[in-house]
Formats: sequence, structure tokens, C-alpha cells
Amino acid sequence: MLDKAPNGRVSNVLNALDKALSAGEVERAADLFQADCYWRDLVTFTWNIKTMEGREQVRDMLEARLADVKPSSLKIADGEDASETNGITESWIQFETEVARGFGHIRLKDGRIWTLLTTMSELKGHEEPVGFDRPMGVKHGVERDRKTWKEDREAEAAELGYSRQPYCVIVGGGQGGIALGARLRQLNVPTIIIEKNEKPGDSWRKRYKSLCLHDPVWYDHLPYLPFPRNWPVFSPKDKIADWLEMYTKVMELNYWGATECKRASYDEDSCEWTVVVQRDGKEIVLNPKQLVLATGMSGKANMPKFEGMEIFKGDQHHSSQHPGPGKYKDKKAVVIGSNNSAHDICAALWEAGVDVTMVQRSTTHVVRSDSLMELGLAQLYSEQAVQSGMTTAKADLIFASLPYKILPEFQTPVYNAIRKRDADFYKRLEEAGFLLDYGDDDSGLFMKYLRRGSGYYIDVGASELIANGSIKLKSGVDVKRLTEHSVILSDGTELPADLVVYATGYGSMNGWAADLISREVADKVGKVWGLGSNTTKDPGPWEGEQRNMWKPTQQEALWFHGGNLHQSRHYSQFLALQLKARMEGIPTPVYGLQKVHHLG
Ligand SMILES: Cc1cc2nc3c(=O)[nH]c(=O)nc-3n(C[C@H](O)[C@H](O)[C@H](O)COP(=O)(O)OP(=O)(O)OC[C@H]3O[C@@H](n4cnc5c(N)ncnc54)[C@H](O)[C@@H]3O)c2cc1C
Repeated sequence: MLDKAPNGRVSNVLNALDKALSAGEVERAADLFQADCYWRDLVTFTWNIKTMEGREQVRDMLEARLADVKPSSLKIADGEDASETNGITESWIQFETEVARGFGHIRLKDGRIWTLLTTMSELKGHEEPVGFDRPMGVKHGVERDRKTWKEDREAEAAELGYSRQPYCVIVGGGQGGIALGARLRQLNVPTIIIEKNEKPGDSWRKRYKSLCLHDPVWYDHLPYLPFPRNWPVFSPKDKIADWLEMYTKVMELNYWGATECKRASYDEDSCEWTVVVQRDGKEIVLNPKQLVLATGMSGKANMPKFEGMEIFKGDQHHSSQHPGPGKYKDKKAVVIGSNNSAHDICAALWEAGVDVTMVQRSTTHVVRSDSLMELGLAQLYSEQAVQSGMTTAKADLIFASLPYKILPEFQTPVYNAIRKRDADFYKRLEEAGFLLDYGDDDSGLFMKYLRRGSGYYIDVGASELIANGSIKLKSGVDVKRLTEHSVILSDGTELPADLVVYATGYGSMNGWAADLISREVADKVGKVWGLGSNTTKDPGPWEGEQRNMWKPTQQEALWFHGGNLHQSRHYSQFLALQLKARMEGIPTPVYGLQKVHHLG
């Protein structure tokens, strides 16, 4: 029988917190938290994505925001029960603010709040039209000159951006721009998505031929429209591309394909952007109030510069331009880099009968896909999780409820277990000369992703080819120069090459702001991504949240959106609500706007 006692414990704390907050008693509210507490707020209290760490920061935030937010009706979420494990009592919660309804999660330790997650579900009076409120789709009765749904859609497409300005322009129509566009459509925020490729999904289609998603289907659903139950665990790139194309259509997005954003500038007086785009050979000027760059964190290729590149007679390109192995059979290839793309490309080249060498400069974190699925993701994102009643929304919120500061503590044991389970695999890789790491603090893949967005390979086969020598490896060396027909390494080795692939990663997204807006605005906004963990490629100081993603930036009305499919699904909700609130003129005073410590 379900132990209902945890309900009482959580309710007592929530009642006390509700009373203190309603009475504006900040001290009394703060006293309900542990000294080492974490309150992660997604937009409800702070109009920001912000984690308050420790009682002091909770107190400061409440002092600044409580009078405005007017929280109320805080309780265990309808239909939910609290539970208790290892001295931690936890529960789903619901609450309201003056302008919104919220959902969240609480963990109690020794009777006080240890972690609190508060997220905005909807703005009062601006709810999405679902369930009983879904659109009729038809007007029953008779009406002269009746317009069909199709005619209405065509009229909208003809006028938006021409005779009527969108409220929001999203530059970049990859899965990020598309997911955000879908949310904004449901919130009735007039939006145009600008995409230089011809069709939705092309950013996946154009990637190397062998690419399949590295994350499993349960992690990848888009908002509103989950993949069907027979969808493959790992989507091939062209299949996910087709899904995005279909999704864009059925979600009724105003998607301008084959349209390139050339430049944008913000007028501080009119609070309006001038966004110049090239469409059908013509320049069109758009004047949205909000501009979102969803141009991809894996979009701005880092192309290294090596002496001799200009005289190299073979093919050379960045991994993002790699066409696939087709024309390189029986040739010699050198792949510079040792992360995901490098491994995938090396394996595909080997399969096609190419003599391939990987050049590894520094250590890489490798984790076998099976192990990652079973030990890293299964609890939240797997068929077993689905069978045990876990929904995508809840999985996303549980994940979000673990503050970044303590997330490594939860991750390290997972990767320790993986190391133990796959000890033989790692030993064989090391014997082949491969340089391994498990993250600066052994916290593994996901922390590396959040901190620097690079430095790992999810093994789907290439590691075995390295271990058995099929993919040749030169590690602990850098490229010194290229000759007409070879790559010379820093240890003097000469690798004959018909093809050189630079799998050297991608730059910070504020580079897009520099390209499209100005260097000044890019510097004002600063580096995008990373937590300030003071680990490799993620310099401090500690930020507590990902820099500049999905939240207000130092540039008024400029936003960044993107990340993997999970982040894009989850955070598009909060970015869309921030944009909707601004469109409706709801005051959105931002608490704790991040400072800029790094330019890019
Ligand atoms: C090899 C590889 C494997 C990956 N595997 C996974 C995975 O398994 N799971 C996962 O979730 N993620 C994966 N990712 C990360 C992946 O980049 C993202 O999930 C996804 O592509 C990000 O979507 P996005 O919309 O943010 O960016 P993108 O898909 O990069 O889309 C950005 C779009 O902006 C457009 N654009 C840029 N500039 C302009 C301009 N000036 N005007 C108009 N349009 C412009 C581009 O054409 C592009 O279509 C992988 C990435 C790579 C490179």
C-alpha cells in the first residue's frame, strides 16, 4: 500500500511556504529552505532561467520579486503523491502566480527544502487552445464567401512579412527553430522562420551520409507530436529530416525556406529589429519586435588553419561538409579530430574500403551507446521508463529539477559504473593508443555536453575498429603542416592523404550575432553555452545556468535557441512563454540578468 505519510510532510512545508509567500514574509519563507538549497526557476519568479543557490540567494530573489509575482495555491500537484527514498522526500507541485500557472518539483531533506523547481506552464488568459478549447476547424452554418482553412493559410502566408509584420523572427529553421515556431504558433505569436536551406530537415540531410541520431527516440520527441511507437530507436538523419518537414507543415508554421538572413539591427527607440533577408532573389525587410537566433550550436564550423593547406592537392573539408565515403574507395584519408563526427566519418570511410587514419590531439570521452542507454538514460528515457508510466514531460522536469551545481554528483556514479562494466573495452582502446578521459571530474558525457558541447564519442562501432587497428590512430600529436599529398604531424610522421577531413568542431553561437548583427552586439552578449564550471573549455566564474540560452541576453529582444532535441523541446516552452508575455504587454522584469565574462 502506498505510504501516504510523505504527502503530509510535503504538504506541511508547502502550506508553510505558501503562507509565508502570500504574507510577503521573506525571512520566514527562506527559513523553510536548507542552508545548501537550490531553487531553479524557469521563468515563473524571475522572468529568467535562474538557479538560486543557498538560502541567501533565495532570500535576495524573494525580496526583489515576491511583491510582483504574488505566488499562491502552492500544493502537491493534483493526482500526485509524494514519495520518500533514502531520507529525501519528493513530490510534484503546482502553484499560481499573478499572471501564470506553474508546475514544479520539490525535494525535502531533514524537513526543509533542498531542491525546488518552479516552471511556467501557461499564462493566465493566454492558454493554448487544447482539449475543450481546441479549434473547431469548421464554422457550421452558411456564410457567403466562406474561406476554407487552406485559403486562410494562403492568405496568412501572403501577408505575413509583407503587409503585416511578424512579432517574432526566428533565424534558422533546423529542429530548434521549428520546435520554437510550433510553440509560438500555439500561443498565437505571429512568427516567421527564416531558413537558408530549401526545405525543413535539410540541415540533417546535408550532414554526412552515415549519420544517425546518437540519442534514442524517447529523448528526441518534438513538442505536441511525439514519434509513433514504431519509430526506430536511433533515427537515421534523412528520416528525422522528413519528420521535420512533415511537422513544419502540419504545425502550420510560416517557414521561409531558401531564404537567407543577411543582416539585422536593433533600433532602441522603436524597440524594433530591421532584419534583411534574401528571398526569391529579392531583398525583403522584416521588422519584428523579437529576434531569435536558432542558427545551430553545431553550425558555425571551426576550420583550423594549417601551413600548406593551400598547396594540398587532394580533397579537404570540415566534417560538416563531408559528402560521405562514396568516391574515396581504395584511397587514403586522414581525419583530424577524435570526437563524434570524426569517429562516424572514420567508420564510414573504413566500411567503404578507404585506408583511414584518425589524428587525436587530446583526450576524448568515449561511452558505449548500450551502456549509456542502460545506465545513463533508461530511468527517464527508455521503453522501460514508458512502461512504468514515465511521460516525456515528467522526464524532462525531473532532469531539470537537478541543479547544475550538484548534477556532477549524480552523474559521476553513473560513469563509474560504466567504466567498471566496460573495463575491458576501455583497456583495449588504451592499448591501441587511444587517449581517454571521463570529464575533468569524471562526471562523464552529459556534463561535457553542458559545459563545452564537445569532447566525446558515443560509441556505435568505431571504437572496435580503432581497438583492432582497422582505423589507424595517431594520438597525442597535432598537425604540423600539409604537403601536396600528405599530412605531416608534430612528431614528424608523414601520412599520405587523398582526403583530409577536419572534424574540429564548432564555434560559439554568438559568432552568428557577429556575422548577422555586429561584433559589438556579439561582445555585448558574450559567449553562448557552458556553465562556467572552470573545466576545460568552460571557463569560470560559475554561472549556474547555460550562458545565454533560452533566456534574456544583454541585448534587448535578442534570444538564442537550440541544443539537442531534448533541450529544444523542453526549453522552447519557456522561451515561447517569455516572448508571448512580451507581446501581450505583461510586465517581465528580469531578475539576475547574467553578466558577460567571456566574449566568445
Ligand atoms: C554530427 C552531428 C550529430 C548530432 N547528433 C545529434 C543527436 O543525436 N541528437 C541531437 O539531439 N542532436 C544531435 N546533434 C546536434 C545537432 O546539431 C542538433 O540537435 C540540431 O541540428 C540542432 O538543431 P538546431 O536547429 O539548433 O541547429 P541546426 O540544425 O544547425 O539548424 C540551424 C539552421 O540555421 C540555418 N541558418 C544559419 N544561418 C542562417 C542565415 N543567415 N539565414 C538563414 N538560415 C540560417 C542553417 O541553414 C540551419 O538549417 C548532432 C550534431 C552533429 C553535427
